[in-house]
Amino acid sequence: MHDTRGDVLRAIPSVESALKHLDSSGLGEGHPRSVITRSVQRVIAGARASIQSGKHSYGSAFEEMRRSILAEVEREVKTLDLRALLPVLNATGVILHTNLGRSPLASAALEAIAETAGGYSNLEYDLVQGTRGKRDLLVLDALCILTGAEDALVVNNNAAAVLLAINTLALGREVIVSRGELIEIGASFRLPEVFERGGATMVEVGTTNRTSLADFEDALNRRTGALLSAHWSNYSIEGFVERVDIRDLTRLGDRWGIPVIHDLGSGALVDADVLKMPGEMTVGESVSAGADVVTFSGDKMLGGPQAGIAVGKADTIARMRKNPLMRALRPGKQILAALQATLGLYLNGLESTEIPVLRMMASSVEELHARSGDATLRLQKRVGTRAVVRVCELTARVGGGAVPGSEISSVGLELADFGCSAASLSARLRAGHPPVIGRTTGETLLLDLRTVPREQDSILIDAVAEAVIDDDG
Ligand SMILES: *Cc1c(COP(=O)(O)O)cnc(C)c1O
Repeated sequence: MHDTRGDVLRAIPSVESALKHLDSSGLGEGHPRSVITRSVQRVIAGARASIQSGKHSYGSAFEEMRRSILAEVEREVKTLDLRALLPVLNATGVILHTNLGRSPLASAALEAIAETAGGYSNLEYDLVQGTRGKRDLLVLDALCILTGAEDALVVNNNAAAVLLAINTLALGREVIVSRGELIEIGASFRLPEVFERGGATMVEVGTTNRTSLADFEDALNRRTGALLSAHWSNYSIEGFVERVDIRDLTRLGDRWGIPVIHDLGSGALVDADVLKMPGEMTVGESVSAGADVVTFSGDKMLGGPQAGIAVGKADTIARMRKNPLMRALRPGKQILAALQATLGLYLNGLESTEIPVLRMMASSVEELHARSGDATLRLQKRVGTRAVVRVCELTARVGGGAVPGSEISSVGLELADFGCSAASLSARLRAGHPPVIGRTTGETLLLDLRTVPREQDSILIDAVAEAVIDDDG
């Protein structure tokens, strides 16, 4: 005998009975009741929808269905903690990991946030005149000093900076861009869509692999509002390739009186050679190449808070600042405080020792070997025969759309023979305190120490030991 679909729906527990079920096992304690109720409602609505669609794996008998829906409710409530914003240990070796919050902040930046954001500040108040003042004055000075630009502005992220530049310089007009640079930076930043929302018409020139200056020149007309060049942030094209040098593009723009937008993406302030990454253009180099606006992120190679920065020629930046969109895109005081403090480290020559991402890039392989050796011994001692721990040579990456394809030799730990699948050990690590995010290859787990701050090695060892030992969870 088969239940009809209408009957089957009656197997779904009510929200009240699911809540009672949770209460009887003490699950959900420590969370507000309203949050628990909401989670239960979500699971039950999902169960109803999948049963109605006929695609579900709750089984067929009433009691079985009911039990598996309640088990799903339990799982949901047990993992509520993991849905909060939490600190995690990044053992992936990807320094600017967008999913893991990109650049950790320097202590000076954290202190600046605590000092200025916990109370009132002169955010828009001129302490000399005693009147309403402009935001971000010193931040802008620092940006101009560090990049050689005439003026600067700060918005919420680089996507906002690009949008503002396009909307200011090319509203109702055309922007010419190479077909090889129509980038997508992870979810929802696709250059063609930003053009559209910015109110400009995109004119693609050249081909995927080759674009010449003549291609740009041929597309120029009375409706051209700007020329745009975007960094190949997360890909590279090799082989039969031609790109237009930013210097040539700005010369063309100058000749026709058309501004050039350079979306640099990552925005290194210090020399690429210092970072051992030849070929990466610094913001200062782009400014001196003559770009009217250079846009970049605050939380990529700069190593600061999430922000978008535009630097460039005084008249162009002034026009962008007057755009009504500026109000919608401006950052809050915490961001300006953190950015000001981070830029202060550069001005004082302290960036390579104080800024976490620059320190991670600069860690030597010898140092990482020493740390990994020590961590391996300590972890092996903790887990005994439950896993085999070895020092392992790895390849770290800058990530975050900086230096596509660039690889940095690194060292870390390799775990094998831990008595379960690599996927389930990874899941236990993600549920740990703090969660640890590593990499797996086949049935081994890799933990790259380049992205783990040295002072957190012990925390990492504890968390990994617990995950290996707790194999019934
Ligand atoms: C990262 C990146 C962006 C987006 O920057 P967000 O700060 O994440 O908004 C845009 N353009 C390029 C070239 C990038 O590398």
